Amino acid sequence: MADRYLSFTATAPGRFLTRRLGLPQPAALRRWSPEHPSLTGSLLHLTAGTTALDLAPVLARTGLPVDGSADPAAVVLDATGVRDVDTLAEVHAALHPVVRSVATSGRVVVLGSPLDAAADDHHRAAVQQALEGFVRSLGKEIGRGRTVNLVRLTDASAAESTLRFLLSLRSAYISGQVIGVGAEGPEGTVDWALPLAGRTALVTGGARGIGEAVAETLARDGAHVVVLDIPQAEADARRVAERLCGSALALDITAADAGDRIAAELPDGIDVLIHNAGITRDRRLVNMPADRWGSVLDVNLASVLRTTDALLAKGALRTGGRIVATASIAGLAGNAGQTNYGASKAGVAGLVRSLAPRALAEHGVTVNAVAPGFIETKMTAAVPLFIREAGRRMNSLAQGGLPVDVAETTAWLAHPASGAVNGQVVRVCGQSLLGA
Ligand code: NAD
Repeated sequence: MADRYLSFTATAPGRFLTRRLGLPQPAALRRWSPEHPSLTGSLLHLTAGTTALDLAPVLARTGLPVDGSADPAAVVLDATGVRDVDTLAEVHAALHPVVRSVATSGRVVVLGSPLDAAADDHHRAAVQQALEGFVRSLGKEIGRGRTVNLVRLTDASAAESTLRFLLSLRSAYISGQVIGVGAEGPEGTVDWALPLAGRTALVTGGARGIGEAVAETLARDGAHVVVLDIPQAEADARRVAERLCGSALALDITAADAGDRIAAELPDGIDVLIHNAGITRDRRLVNMPADRWGSVLDVNLASVLRTTDALLAKGALRTGGRIVATASIAGLAGNAGQTNYGASKAGVAGLVRSLAPRALAEHGVTVNAVAPGFIETKMTAAVPLFIREAGRRMNSLAQGGLPVDVAETTAWLAHPASGAVNGQVVRVCGQSLLGA
C-alpha cells in the first residue's frame, strides 16, 4: 500500500500546505541501490574527552572522505572518553556547531563505552548513560531523514562492520538505537563486496514480505539462499528461490521434526539461519480463545526455540554461523489486541539475550534479533486506515519502513565481520514512539 502522504509532501504544494498546517513533513529516505551504493559527501570525525580508540583507520575504510568540510554526510563523535559532566559538555561543544549542517539523509553516530566498563565509577557510568538520552533526543529533533545512533564499543576494528552499516544508506530506517559491540575482531580477510559468498542461508517465511526481501539481500551479498515456507506457499517460495538461484523448502516450521528436516535437507550445514516466519491473530485478551494464543506462540516463539535447539544440537550451524530472529516493537512496547503476539516477540528477545553468550562460546555462532516497527507489507496493509496512518507517522522519520530496511539490518548481523555483535535486539522502526 503506497504512502500517498509521503508522495504528497514531496511536492511543492504539499510541502507548503503541510508546513502551514503544522503536519509532519517526512523526508523521502535515500536507500542503497547499485547505482547509489553510499552516502554522498564527507565524514566529520569529532572527539569528546580523551579517547583510547584507534578509529581513524576504520573510518578511512568506510569510503567516505574524512575531512572537516562543511555539510558533512556523516558525523562520528567518539565519546568513549567522556567520564564526567565536564567532558560530557564536550559532546555539546562538538555537535552544537555542526548538527544544522549535516546533509539531508545524513548520519550521526556517537560512540560510547560499554556500561559495565564504568561499573565501579558512578560519575563515568552517569555520563556514559547520559549519551543514550542525548542520542535518543537528538534523533527525535534532527529531522530531514537524518539518523542518530549510539554504538558502545572498546575496539574500533571489531566494530567496523557496524560502523560501515550505520554510516551507509543501508541503515536508513534505524535511528535512536543503542548497539553494543564486543571486542573480538574478524578473523582473516573480509570480502566487503560479497561477504556471504560460499555461505548457505536459510530464511523461514521467505516466500513474501520481509522474508522475501531478506532472501534477496542475502543473495545479493553472495549467499546460497534456501527459502522455507509453508506448503500452501510453495509456488511463491519456488518463484523467489529461482529468481535468486537458491532453493525452496516447503515445510511448516511448527512441525515437531522441522529441525531434523532442515538438517537433512542441508547436510553440508547452515551458515546463516533467519527466523522470520511469523503470524498475527489479534484479539483483546478477554476475547482471545486458546487456539489464537497457541498458534501465534507456536509459530513465533516455540518453533524458533525448537528448531534453534535441534540445529545447534546436531551441529548443523557451522562455526562462524549467524542466527537472526525476528522480534517486533510490539513485543518491546506492548500493543492492544496483541497479548499473544507481544508475548511471543518479547520471548524472542529473551531467547536471544540468554542464548547469545552460550551459542558463541560453545558453537562459535552469534544470536541477534531485529525488531521491526511499522513496515509496509501485506501484514500492515490489512491494518485499518487510521490505525495504519498513525503507525506510519508515529516515529522520528514520520513514515513506515520498507522490508528492505529489515533485510539490510539482517544482512549486517549475518555479515562474517559482525562476530562481535551478539545478543543484540536492534529496532528497525525509524525510532518509533512505541516503547521508545
Ligand atoms: P507476512 O505475513 O507477509 O509473511 C510471513 C511469511 O511467513 C509468509 O510467507 C508465511 O507463509 C510464512 N509463515 C507463516 N507461518 C509459517 C509457518 N508455520 N512455517 C513456515 N512459514 C510460515 O509477514 P511480514 O510482514 O513479512 O513479517 C515477517 C516477520 O516480521 C514476522 O515474524 C512478523 O511478525 C515480523 N514483523 C513484521 C512487522 C511489519 O510491520 N510487517 C513488524 C514487526 C515484526
